[in-house]
Amino acid sequence: MNINDATLVENEERARQLLQRSWKLSIAGECRPALSGRTYAVTSPYTGEQIAVVPDGGAEDVAAAVTAAHAAFEGWRATPPMARAQLLEELARAIVAYARDFAILDSVDAGIPIVYMADELRTVAAFMRYFAGLALETKGETIPASNNLHFTERQPFGVVARIVPFNHPFMFAAKNIAAPLIAGNTVIVKPSELTPLSALLLGELVNEILPSGVVNVVVGNGPEVPQALVSHPLVHRIGFTGSEEIGRKIVRAGADCGVKDISLELGGKNAFIAFPDADPVTVAEAAIRNMNVTWSGQSCSSTTRLLVHEDIADIVVATITERLSTHVIGNPLDPHSRQGTIVSERQYHSILGFIERAQQAGARVASGGGRPKGVDTGLFIEPTVLVDVAPDSEVAQEEIFGPVLSVIRWRDEEEAIRIANSVRYGLTGIIYTNDIKRAHRVARKIDAGMIGINGSGAAFLGIPAGGFKASGLGREQSLDELLSYTQIKVTSVYLD
Ligand code: NAD
Repeated sequence: MNINDATLVENEERARQLLQRSWKLSIAGECRPALSGRTYAVTSPYTGEQIAVVPDGGAEDVAAAVTAAHAAFEGWRATPPMARAQLLEELARAIVAYARDFAILDSVDAGIPIVYMADELRTVAAFMRYFAGLALETKGETIPASNNLHFTERQPFGVVARIVPFNHPFMFAAKNIAAPLIAGNTVIVKPSELTPLSALLLGELVNEILPSGVVNVVVGNGPEVPQALVSHPLVHRIGFTGSEEIGRKIVRAGADCGVKDISLELGGKNAFIAFPDADPVTVAEAAIRNMNVTWSGQSCSSTTRLLVHEDIADIVVATITERLSTHVIGNPLDPHSRQGTIVSERQYHSILGFIERAQQAGARVASGGGRPKGVDTGLFIEPTVLVDVAPDSEVAQEEIFGPVLSVIRWRDEEEAIRIANSVRYGLTGIIYTNDIKRAHRVARKIDAGMIGINGSGAAFLGIPAGGFKASGLGREQSLDELLSYTQIKVTSVYLD
């Protein structure tokens, strides 16, 4: 059955069946409990109830996974790239075959509306096929440095750690194995402890298709597992997606125990700059779309600061407020639901705290501001629009990771650019104007890795995705990502 063809009742029934399984770590081609025997409970952010008991892995499980991945490495790197590509394509086909199960798990575990999961699953399969197609691009070059022969080869690192966040649980766990695998590395995936279920199911599927130990999935409740991964001497390459705070910890911890190659896809406080020549209704609709209410704003590329010229500010805010009030909230497994839950109680209270402190600092709530009225179930917060926000206030500077838009007015172009660049992040940015010269001029001056002119600044398959400043290091979802999982070796052959 296709993801979008099922009713709420059918989804709930399938969820019940899926959640009856016994959840296991995936190490050395086998599904098994944590070595300590410890487990922890995973709860639904919609019902608040326990939905699964999963292994609470520890440092000893990480050690076993690294040993398995290290043992598998020589065989995997010796497998010709096109044969690796074929296996990845087979995995993509299997993921498509089980797409509805992965979708349902993320929906109950992370509170994502099921209707949007079809896109996530398509994205995963597309990434796998894309990287499989790039298999022969891990090539070297010859360099005429002398009359001898000098050539480069791109070689894998060995064991790669992929640590991923809660907000797109399956998409990040699954698509992020593609580039390291095609480059000849073996991988350990570490999903968020909040949303581990779809990655644990992925571990089961991987064991049926890839040689044992090539991909391992380990999770634990707390930082022990990722810390052990980062500091393991056989893990030289770490690909991290998550918060700035943890990204910095990883760099620090990695440096304390060795020299590691680390890429970081971190947070954002992205600016949407609307010029007065842009159509205000189009701007308002785009501002809502890019709040990513679907994920309750829990998306790194969301534009959370709307920098709008004062000439169109009133009509833009009025239109946003009017359109936001029609958003459908409900059980994420219901195909009619359009807004997901906040992932955890902690994150829920953190977002409400930001909204409250913003008001104390002088901002005004134009729309939303708290729990939706009449909704008793689920960690929902209304899409919230704050006006009269000072550009240097907490709510305009910090990543909230919730459905909160701060509106800031400006008068001239330089002021807009200064405000856009006044945060420490630099992931995405959006510019709306009909003046082509102004659009390019401003785009060049915005400190961000991904800019959208009259459209989203979010990533597309094949374009390098990543951030400036505190938003990260390195680029993903493109050839750059594949090459970042290789290291260059030079060989000089003396001919005379
Ligand atoms: P997080 O940083 O809290 O956790 C991310 C992962 O790090 C989890 O798997 C977690 O278990 C692990 N972790 C926790 N402590 C660790 C430690 N000491 N060492 C190593 N790993 C550790 O992030 P989150 O709350 O899951 O996700 C939200 C954040 O992720 C936001 O900041 C968001 O902007 C960012 N994000 C960025 C991108 C991007 O592509 N730039 C994409 C998605 C999310």
